[in-house]
Amino acid sequence: MSDARALASDEVAAGREGGLPWLATPLRRTLATRHAHALLIHGPGGVGQFELALALAAAWLCEATDRPLVDRPCRRCASCKLHVAQSHPDLLVLVPEAMRESLGWDPGGSEGDEAGEGGKRKPSKEIRVEAVRAAIVFATTTSARGRGKVVVVHPAERMNEVAASAFLKTLEEPAGDARFLLCSAAPDSLLPTIRSRCQQVVLPLPPAIVAEAWLARHGVAQPGVLLAAAGGQPQEALDLAGRGIDAAAWLALPARIAAGDATALHGWPLPSAVDALQKVCHDAAALACGGAPRYFPRDRVVTQADLGALLRWSRELARVAAEAEHPWGVDLAIESLVGQGREALKTPGSRGRRREGLSLNSTG
Ligand SMILES: [Zn+2]
Repeated sequence: MSDARALASDEVAAGREGGLPWLATPLRRTLATRHAHALLIHGPGGVGQFELALALAAAWLCEATDRPLVDRPCRRCASCKLHVAQSHPDLLVLVPEAMRESLGWDPGGSEGDEAGEGGKRKPSKEIRVEAVRAAIVFATTTSARGRGKVVVVHPAERMNEVAASAFLKTLEEPAGDARFLLCSAAPDSLLPTIRSRCQQVVLPLPPAIVAEAWLARHGVAQPGVLLAAAGGQPQEALDLAGRGIDAAAWLALPARIAAGDATALHGWPLPSAVDALQKVCHDAAALACGGAPRYFPRDRVVTQADLGALLRWSRELARVAAEAEHPWGVDLAIESLVGQGREALKTPGSRGRRREGLSLNSTG
């Protein structure tokens, strides 16, 4: 993504939506129809919620007022140039420290609040309450360039309860001419009062043909395979490719897990490995139930898997996914999960006559 944002300014001018072609329509539609002071952009992750929020902010702050709002940002005025340089005085972006690099949003290289103090601290995965308080002060001060102020919060569910409560007061009693853009792939985990204060903008998965063309332009071979692997989320598919997972490696995964080959996930961060195993499990279960696979082509899915064993594996995967840090360490955790996967993916024949767990109602 940072590559996309680092395009030369002429190219940026050609794509008002941050280099993500499927955002052009949602951008125009939102500018035309959403006039509340707070918007909640939600839908699946990995489709450009953050980029849409930035493009909306740029449009509202853009100084090319001879253009209709739906044709902004112009990407040429002084305000737009400040926006591209990540130094617009009327825009404040709240993202967790740990996400700044991957989002390509790091104005001044992590200056200010959390960086200093000497010594390296693990970058926070949360939006810290201090940052929210600073945003509240920012929102109440006068606009520097006279076109209001914008606060972007991404992802909004990374505000903890204290931070979210502080933020809520500002949403309830907006002071000055600030507007707020919250992004979330998990809107149900936000405070209901925050959700109800925002006008909703749903950003769906883009059409596969558009997403695949975009992935191909970023050098992804067999983009359809990785797009399916990512559940249709193009940014996540690009992340997979960036981590060195190509179509061949992905297609081979179900068979390698069925063979108990934990080296298939060697070097993967635990959350990514668990996510991949959940997809292997999902597709095997879908086929076992007579449904269609979602993440792998049908001919790659282990078809004779035992549903009861898959359900047990699925529960264990969900349990590990919910843990922030696994007590055994990553390698052992992956080995254990792959071991369970091998058992679950064994064909009933190779399991002998043991068919326990096949009945759905015995597993609840
Ligand atoms: Zn402009």
